[in-house]
Amino acid sequence: MEITFLGTNGWFDTHTGATSSVFLNTKDCYIVLDAGSGFYKVPSLLKEDKPIFLFLSHLHLDHICALQMLPLLKNKNLTIIVVGKEQKENLAKFMQLPFMPTAKMLNIEVKEVEEIKNKLPFKVEYYELAHAVKTFGYKIFSEDKVVAYGLDSGLCENILNLAKDSDLFICECSYLPNQDPDFNHLNPKAAALIAKEAKTKLLALIHFKADVYDTFEKRDLALLEAGKYFEKTFAPYDGDTITI
Ligand SMILES: [Zn+2]
Ligand SMILES: [Zn+2]
Repeated sequence: MEITFLGTNGWFDTHTGATSSVFLNTKDCYIVLDAGSGFYKVPSLLKEDKPIFLFLSHLHLDHICALQMLPLLKNKNLTIIVVGKEQKENLAKFMQLPFMPTAKMLNIEVKEVEEIKNKLPFKVEYYELAHAVKTFGYKIFSEDKVVAYGLDSGLCENILNLAKDSDLFICECSYLPNQDPDFNHLNPKAAALIAKEAKTKLLALIHFKADVYDTFEKRDLALLEAGKYFEKTFAPYDGDTITI
């Protein structure tokens, strides 16, 4: 499975990157995690005629702002997946005129994960995380690999359950090493300790909060800090691709 990090910033775009979106190229389908501004790169990555499943963690704008480019994906067999009625209803408030065309106008389906999970060509689990609004982490089981996607989240039991025994844990790293994790977000040490306890194989740090991570050097320091607690950590830049 090929994984491309389309957006690695948190909150807003700067010269360090676009906001959160991760692209998984699997044998049977494309899976996209969040539609932050990095999601604009998706059309250029669609080389084959495969269904696209877009999972939204929550509806903070840095995770959904690029939905407004969905007219480019009209009739591309795209399904947007959220957790629960509340997220689905709130998303419909955003995906409507005058802000953007509705899902129906674009021939795009919006499904609650419970409605669709048994019909997907891979297994998915979801975990409610600690954040200011309802937010869910997704665990994707595909091609004998497990990818856990945990952002945005503060410290909680479920982020550990999400990451448990994953091949790749994509975790948020909003705060600087000298900022304590809280009910909303994590710092590099907290992310690394979760990865260690969860026995994940590889940790990717993304969602670097744009106001405090204003240089790539600060990301390097975060990586250095996380590496003290969990060696197999990396911090991808926008556009980086790995194969697991
Ligand atoms: Zn965010
Ligand atoms: Zn958020």
